[in-house]
Amino acid sequence: MKRTRSDLLPLARALEVIGDPWSFLIVQEAFFGVRRFEAFQRNLGISRKTLADRLNRLQERGLLSKVIYEARPPRYEYRLTPSSRDTYAYALCLMRWGNEWQADAQGPPVVLHHKPCGHPLTPLAVCGACAMELRAADMEISPSTVTVPLASTNTPVRSSSRPELYTAGRPSSISRAVAVIGDRWGFFVLWLSLAGITRFDQFHEILGVARTVLAARLDSLIDLGLFERRPYQERPPRYDYCLTEKGRALCPALLAMFDWSVRWHEHGAFTASIHVLHRPCGSGLRMKVVCEHCREVVQARDVEVGAQRSW
Ligand SMILES: [Zn+2]
Ligand SMILES: [Zn+2]
Repeated sequence: MKRTRSDLLPLARALEVIGDPWSFLIVQEAFFGVRRFEAFQRNLGISRKTLADRLNRLQERGLLSKVIYEARPPRYEYRLTPSSRDTYAYALCLMRWGNEWQADAQGPPVVLHHKPCGHPLTPLAVCGACAMELRAADMEISPSTVTVPLASTNTPVRSSSRPELYTAGRPSSISRAVAVIGDRWGFFVLWLSLAGITRFDQFHEILGVARTVLAARLDSLIDLGLFERRPYQERPPRYDYCLTEKGRALCPALLAMFDWSVRWHEHGAFTASIHVLHRPCGSGLRMKVVCEHCREVVQARDVEVGAQRSW
């Protein structure tokens, strides 16, 4: 396989695989025990064509294995693989963010319980080296983790222009979070902000995206409360684009995505330890998601899904 520059960039690779909202939501259904086409379709309210396409992609990329369960007529089911099971930390981080920032007055739509300690589960992202909670302000992220002509990353998947589609299925903070972040540009802009980028021209130069597309994406991130515009020059008016507290709170989810990609993809000479540092201990990124109550690493098998309500 031809190695492109994008192979060096974990976030770009992760986005190809789990950044597509439908693909990611399909993997979430699989975590809930769903294995068959009809059940995925029913639970997600997704079209058959889109579902078939995403199941194929997920298989090609090693996130689902297709297993025959009936010979005549041949029928298949889809199962999680080691790499898709390992996206659990990312899902937990997104869920926590959705619960805190997107839930309504009635609280989260689903409560999870951590069986080993018996408490409701609040996932907490911590540094694998020093065990401190990972916060945006403590991370040193090199913008070079994204420097890529993004057009070269292969087979981009078009996200729906109607994000509400993603929340039609199972009530979940994850689907809400996915709908908010939107497409790959949303992820990249958020990531670059964590790396300290604030100026429109810098985003533009690094991402190589059309100015109109970038402007539209920043506007929608501002509308969603993830970014704010701060004037730094009056004439002509110029602004810094800064993350709000709500935007910074997405940091653990983005780190989890990055960390997952580093573990599961070949990145050539790329080493995460140089590009993403935890300042308090000086270690390269290695993250763990633990239960806030008992501080044990959260495993999918240890989590019980409580009652769900619609919202
Ligand atoms: Zn640390
Ligand atoms: Zn616990």
